[in-house]
Amino acid sequence: MNALPELKIAPHRESKITALKTLLADIEQNFAPAAFASSFGAEDMVLLDLIARHFKGIEIFTLDTGRLPPETLTLMQRTQTRYRINVTAYTPAPEAVQNYISSAGLNGFYESMAKRQGCCQIRKIEPLARALADKRAWLTGLRREQAPTRADLAESEFDAVHALTKFNPLIDWTNDDVWDYIRAHDVPYNTLHDRGYPSIGCEPCTRAVKPGEDARAGRWWWESTADQKECGLHTAASDFNAQATSSITKYASVAIKIIDKDIEKVIEKNIEKVRV
Ligand code: SF4
Repeated sequence: MNALPELKIAPHRESKITALKTLLADIEQNFAPAAFASSFGAEDMVLLDLIARHFKGIEIFTLDTGRLPPETLTLMQRTQTRYRINVTAYTPAPEAVQNYISSAGLNGFYESMAKRQGCCQIRKIEPLARALADKRAWLTGLRREQAPTRADLAESEFDAVHALTKFNPLIDWTNDDVWDYIRAHDVPYNTLHDRGYPSIGCEPCTRAVKPGEDARAGRWWWESTADQKECGLHTAASDFNAQATSSITKYASVAIKIIDKDIEKVIEKNIEKVRV
């Protein structure tokens, strides 16, 4: 894959790429096993391009919620072919999905924030816990300028929910930095970005934004609170616990049993890590 074309990139951005490579090398060497959570958004394609070509010791995984748009699934396949890599897909527990649909309806998430968070819990958060259960670190493509909820992001932090280190290597990258990299390195990207989708999640919960609108305005657009436009994947531990208590118990009793089992496994594994 090192034969892929590397065209000219703006000189002032070279230093950011160099710093990013240094950080990825450090993570690969000192935090194994580490995993990158990719949603195949533009930022994630920057990280994926570098990891797939230069840092193969870092695992790449995705959360296939079962509600992703076809454009994302197409990109997922295209990416694996292009880089000759396997991206591990974590899917929701079938019983939990069935239970949610039976009690709230297939698209019950439109009815209230609690129901929406319950769906995100089952389709995203619980699979993420499984993906991270045996890891020492995980990486995201979060950037500070993406949303008010991300303005105070740190490059690395202790993720108390999953008991491991979380790296956000692109915190100071701008939108232009991301797209400059994608164009210069001919990185594949989601075609929805060309149709007004700056941020892409599940199909029924994402729409294009109008010029001048916030980048995340198209996510859960029917909810009015901009400061809560997160699915819980990147929520602080205290918020996570409150959210899990209020939403899951109501809509996913089966999911609770599954999640409890996973949490037990995570705790056991983290006790082992501490002993080692
Ligand atoms: S983004 Fe929408 S469909 Fe996807 S998990 Fe959350 S509520 Fe469910």
